[in-house]
Amino acid sequence: MENFIVSARKYRPQTFESVVGQKHITGTLKNAIRNNQLAQAFLFCGPRGVGKTTCARIFAKVINCQNPGENMEPCNQCESCTSFNNNASYNIHELDAASNNSVEDIRTLVDQVRIPPQVGAYKVYIIDEVHMLSQAAFNAFLKTLEEPPAYAKFILATTEKHKIIPTILSRCQIFDFKRITINDIAGHLAWVAERENISAQEEALHIIAQKADGAMRDALSIFDQLVSFSGNNITYDSVIENLNVLDYEYYFRLTDFLISGDIKNALLILNDIINNGFDGSHFLQGFGTHLRNLLVAKDPVTLPLLEESDTIAQRYKQQGATCSDFFLIESLKKQALADSGYKNSNNKRLLLELLLIESSLLSGGTASGQTANSAPAEQKKNRPEPVAAPSQASQHKPQQEAGSQPAQQSTPETTSDSGEAPVVIPEKVKKGPSGLKKRKSTISIKKEEESALERDRAERDAREELKSSAEPVDEE
Ligand SMILES: [Zn+2]
Repeated sequence: MENFIVSARKYRPQTFESVVGQKHITGTLKNAIRNNQLAQAFLFCGPRGVGKTTCARIFAKVINCQNPGENMEPCNQCESCTSFNNNASYNIHELDAASNNSVEDIRTLVDQVRIPPQVGAYKVYIIDEVHMLSQAAFNAFLKTLEEPPAYAKFILATTEKHKIIPTILSRCQIFDFKRITINDIAGHLAWVAERENISAQEEALHIIAQKADGAMRDALSIFDQLVSFSGNNITYDSVIENLNVLDYEYYFRLTDFLISGDIKNALLILNDIINNGFDGSHFLQGFGTHLRNLLVAKDPVTLPLLEESDTIAQRYKQQGATCSDFFLIESLKKQALADSGYKNSNNKRLLLELLLIESSLLSGGTASGQTANSAPAEQKKNRPEPVAAPSQASQHKPQQEAGSQPAQQSTPETTSDSGEAPVVIPEKVKKGPSGLKKRKSTISIKKEEESALERDRAERDAREELKSSAEPVDEE
């Protein structure tokens, strides 16, 4: 049987050029090597799986390479490079500080540093997870770090830069590694798939990249896992099934229902999702991401923020065009609110349902079969405007209040056929469109005189506002 090597190891970059998504770091390192301005200690910070150790190893290989060439890449052929590639070089020492964090471990290391390299120019010491060193170990290390022999180079790597004491930080050149973008990861996966003769759908690789959350190592592990499950053909369906990912389709359909105000079908989709075993918080986050993606896809300027495959990006653009900014932003706010309250909610499902109902009322649609009629319809006309022109909003509010009050009173009876809905829907209608002012006025629903007074006041305010806002315009 053929010996299986995991992709993360098999395709570990051997040159700076092949490191994915860290050009700012590999470029700087190459320049430092070219100009012979090597610091004695480096600190590589960044999330896990983004290439810190890989870059450290390539760096060690290049500075020991006998003919690194113009572009400062290892030749991968000379004696030094071959011994590096076979893990047989004596010029690289790796210490995992997560498990070797005692003073004794550091003393052993410091003793080693005193011995100059037999072959090659530099000895490179890579200390992984350096923030795990004990305080005493740090202290034992300081002196060596400050005045190492010329042939010794230290590369400290950490996922938690804030835990590194200032005395260490000040002795190191600091490099911040970035999370790898989804597109970069997906691109690299496609490259690996090609070399492994595996056919993989672009959308499938994007899902893997999303799941990996910026870490190439994780992405490659997931990739391996899927290959062993579904063989040499990785499809979108097999990925979402295997990774227990909530399908885009759910959210696209759900959003369609929300914009058309079809509360019933929106609730049915939620039911589907929960019945398929997905956790509510999982859905909630996915919903937030979907809304955010729609918002971002609406404008060509923010389109690059959408980390999706081309096909999916196209769909976001299409659906985004059918949603008003107001709907998206307000829904996002409601989603954030639900998300923060989710953990402590006693009725999590109701919380989610409420969110969907509120969102669908935002679009102002009167559900097919949804009887909450006059109020939402009226809000549909008025609502999009407050976002565009706040000053106009103040004009509209009083009228809207007057108009929607009778509607609120009528809704409870008309929706009584759908269980909890009567309680829920009118609440939304009241709170939905406007802020504090509105809520205050709902207390005094019955007092028509008061609302009339308020209306007069608001109209007066609006007139004054118009007057004062007109003046500066004229001056210009
Ligand atoms: Zn070489």
